Amino acid sequence: MKLVTFRTGTMSRIGVADAGVVRGVSVVRDVSELLPAGIGMLEVIEAWDELGPVLRERTAALPTLPLDSVELLAPIPAPRRNVICVGKNYRDHITEFGRSGYDTSGERVELPAKPILFSKATTSVTGPTAAVEPHHALTSELDYEGELCVIIGRGGRGITREQAYQHVWGYTIVNDITARDLQRDHKQWLLGKSLDTHCPMGPYAVTADEITDVTALEIETTVNGERRQRAAVKDMIFDIPHLIATLSAGITLLPGDLIATGTPAGVGIGFDPPRFLSSGDLVEVSITGLGRLSNRIADR
Ligand code: MG
Repeated sequence: MKLVTFRTGTMSRIGVADAGVVRGVSVVRDVSELLPAGIGMLEVIEAWDELGPVLRERTAALPTLPLDSVELLAPIPAPRRNVICVGKNYRDHITEFGRSGYDTSGERVELPAKPILFSKATTSVTGPTAAVEPHHALTSELDYEGELCVIIGRGGRGITREQAYQHVWGYTIVNDITARDLQRDHKQWLLGKSLDTHCPMGPYAVTADEITDVTALEIETTVNGERRQRAAVKDMIFDIPHLIATLSAGITLLPGDLIATGTPAGVGIGFDPPRFLSSGDLVEVSITGLGRLSNRIADR
């Protein structure tokens, strides 16, 4: 099932998208009437054991709206806490990052022995087609990072590798937009990763049962139509069970937690000279079966 958060007027609603086709059009069904009044995606995920079967059974009978007639927000527009992110999780990206001179984490080209974890502020989250603010006063080195994002369902602590996928509710796409100059100059990455609108997310929250083998998915990022990144999720250094086991060893994971699993090679600083984003650029990130983010860098 592909869930969305969408806006009609000033109201935000939960919908189920049918990206398969009804008479040539992708559609969304407003499922608000099947849910407790006023709840958002976090609460839907939290109560999925009860609500999932209701949605499965009763969504198809609801009226459809053309998907392109509604404004999609990020599926989880206001996460409960920061988006958890993994740094340097694809080999070729480590090489390009190390060569670029922007890596001040001290490890340079070597493979990390353990996952590098940081986070993006909740307020950086924005919609799958929203404009991205360039923050010209703060950065002149804006970069993209297309990533698979895991959505936690059942929370927990001490989750083992073997149990890990039982705690995955589903998946979405994020663009881990990065102000490289802030990332480099402040040593820690929070600031360079967290500027407002620098976490486009969506378009769907796709339930895990729709994805037969998450490692078979492919990530592709384009800038103004030119392909910059293309990689398979199976090329991750630390796989999803490893990440969940590492995080949950001492931190209780909560329903709706988001784990952006790292970006493959082909980011702007991988080029010599670097190719940073400018106002007007269109960055698109797509992952097999999860849809596409399509975000333009605003003028200001
Ligand atoms: Mg990243």
